[in-house]
Amino acid sequence: MSEATASGTPSEGTANEGTATEVATRCGTVAIVGRPNVGKSTLLNAILDAHLSIVTPKAQTTRKRVLGIATDENAQLIFIDTPGLIKPKYKMQHSMMGYVDDSLNEADVLCVVVDVVKAFDDKTILDTFTTPILTKYRDKPAVLVLNKMDALHLKTEALFLMEEARLSGFYKRAVAVSALENKEVDALVDILKGLVPKGPFLYDKDQLSTLPERFFVAELIREAIYFQYREEVPYSTDVTIVEFEERENGKWYIAADIIVERETQKGILIGAQGEALKMVGEFSRAAIEKHLQHPVFLELYVKVRQDWRNDKAQLTGLGY
Ligand code: GDP
Ligand code: MG
Repeated sequence: MSEATASGTPSEGTANEGTATEVATRCGTVAIVGRPNVGKSTLLNAILDAHLSIVTPKAQTTRKRVLGIATDENAQLIFIDTPGLIKPKYKMQHSMMGYVDDSLNEADVLCVVVDVVKAFDDKTILDTFTTPILTKYRDKPAVLVLNKMDALHLKTEALFLMEEARLSGFYKRAVAVSALENKEVDALVDILKGLVPKGPFLYDKDQLSTLPERFFVAELIREAIYFQYREEVPYSTDVTIVEFEERENGKWYIAADIIVERETQKGILIGAQGEALKMVGEFSRAAIEKHLQHPVFLELYVKVRQDWRNDKAQLTGLGY
């Protein structure tokens, strides 16, 4: 009954002691959205300065939501990296689009990433994918990020795109960056800090992510698969961690299933005398040890689950 709240009337004469500290911090959720391959994951990594979200030269590799948190003295930004915006084709892609929408609903600020070179060629920053989203979530502040500035020959060419962003009425701010070269990424972070609402931090200062380590381990294995094989095979695989435990010798034992759709893909994944799979194992173990800062014993198994991409029940089992 006599509780003093920030907005209520103090009942016991504790007001105006001269040292009253109002909430000076800001904290909010930022959804990073944009077409595949525009550099969303690279940007998030540059912001967090840590290898949390996977980056590969191929489109459509980020299928699950990655949450990264960046905190300094005054502000905490909670990032959601979303799958690239695409027209749903498989059932899996439908549920990916569901994720995108969930992320946007949850977000305080939208960070729309565009490939500046492509936008320059198209002569517009607006496309049929981002416009409906910006329209639907018009009440949320949006920032346009023109990424890949390093690849634009004449930097001033970005100016008319910035002007278009301003005139469109969709964007509060626009910023030109190079995620790859970490240029102007700090400027973007400053803008985002100014746009998230005032409030206390939701997470510990030194917490980089709320997702469990096994998620990152699975992502690192998936990344190794993307590097090792071409085209069709990576797109029909998924990785689940089946065991993750400490052994007596101090090593962490990790067993993972690589799930494919067909026997032929299994054959390709394993390779002659198991050479290809061995490479994936070596490559991903090194990445996992680097990420976990701990020696790891890794075992990979390839399993066939026919048409897992189109089977809703199996998708749910895999966490989509
Ligand atoms: P996402 O699909 O939007 O998450 O895109 P990624 O972050 O996976 O990046 C896709 C490709 O674009 C990768 O080959 C990146 O190295 C490249 N890329 C990302 N940011 C930049 C940038 O600022 N400049 C250039 N030149 N390439 C970039
Ligand atoms: Mg990505």
